[in-house]
Amino acid sequence: MSELEVKNLAYSYKKRKVLEDICLEISAGQFIGILGPNGSGKTTLLNNINRWLKPQKGMIFIEGQNIEHMSTKILAQNVATVPQETSLDLGFTVEEVVMMGRNPYLRTFERESSEDLAVVESCMKSVGIWELKDRLIGELSGGEKQRVLIARALAQQPKVLLLDEPISHLDINYKWEILELLRKLSRNLEIIVIAALHDINLASIFCDKLVLLKNGKIFKVGSPHEVLTEENLKEVFNVNLKIRTGSYGRPIITFPQPVEKLQKAREFNGIHVVCGGGAGEKVLHYLQGKGYKISAGVLNVGDTDWKAAKELGIDVVEDPPFSPISEEKAKVNRYCIDKADAVVLCNIPFGYGNLKNLITLKDAVLEGNKKTFVLDETPIEQRDYTNGLAEKIYRQILTKAVIFRSFDELLDFF
Ligand code: ADP
Repeated sequence: MSELEVKNLAYSYKKRKVLEDICLEISAGQFIGILGPNGSGKTTLLNNINRWLKPQKGMIFIEGQNIEHMSTKILAQNVATVPQETSLDLGFTVEEVVMMGRNPYLRTFERESSEDLAVVESCMKSVGIWELKDRLIGELSGGEKQRVLIARALAQQPKVLLLDEPISHLDINYKWEILELLRKLSRNLEIIVIAALHDINLASIFCDKLVLLKNGKIFKVGSPHEVLTEENLKEVFNVNLKIRTGSYGRPIITFPQPVEKLQKAREFNGIHVVCGGGAGEKVLHYLQGKGYKISAGVLNVGDTDWKAAKELGIDVVEDPPFSPISEEKAKVNRYCIDKADAVVLCNIPFGYGNLKNLITLKDAVLEGNKKTFVLDETPIEQRDYTNGLAEKIYRQILTKAVIFRSFDELLDFF
């Protein structure tokens, strides 16, 4: 038996038909991404599953129970929602907000029990905010706030967790973290996690199954490979996209134009810049100014190039100040490289701290057919502080790259 079953659901706002003939069967432990253009019905579908909206037709079952017949409390013990926009009282502490998730288990005026406290503690720990428990909501970053909302929803101990655009306002670092967290939660807690997502590439990497909506109908359901085909995306989004397989074995979308013809930024394409220590500042400014969509990384927070990228509003993969590049952020960096149409490697010195940037780039260049540009102003031997290790990797990259001997050559090209 599927844990969640949506049967022939139809929903209209007054006379406006928004969902039609929606059928879904989802088993426990799965992370489902709902994709589709704006207005295709993603939010409306989530709001039918949590019963904020009542369908005109069809039924929804959780473990065989029709949600229509559940009391409000029982429903809240089955389905929890992290909404798109929440006005949280900034004066509450993190723990107080997460405790609100226990409301469906408390009787009127009843105080929370030691069990409630234990559940709240375990939820905070599972999303990694235990250390923040006494902090005020108003003091948190966007990514931390999102974790608090997820912990509050988990405190309801739901079987189904719904999230509406949970990553749209976050930078790439938090986006990655939150999706990784959701995947982990679906597995570890054996719950169904359903998220409406805008970012097709990230949905492809993290979700087990995708539901692609078009005009309120399911256009396709299945694994990322089954759903994210060039034909399906052309049909639903009306754009010509190119699909290839990224380093995670999942489809990645880019535009098909050769980089020589790229003139301005488009939603899915771009250039990833590997830089650091100020060697990338000019490059970032120039390419951004030309209208390309730029990402950069991995950079340490506070680094000159990090500051320049942040000022330009560039998506930066970042690690804490003065720390070596982490395994985790190297993965996010690889994702950004895979997603970009081209990579530029700046004239940076290499030590053991940033060697991972070079390794990640080398893997991407050798495995994929990535357009790679290297700004090679200073001989590598003079900026290799790794006893020749960096030089060896660098030379492998050069075999596949277009080499610029000066910044002017780069200007001429782009
Ligand atoms: P998505 O989440 O995919 O962007 P929505 O579910 O928000 O799509 O919206 C689907 C359609 O329903 C859109 O055309 C939208 O304008 C319409 N819609 C959404 N909310 C309302 C509402 N409260 N009243 C009337 N129409 C609505």
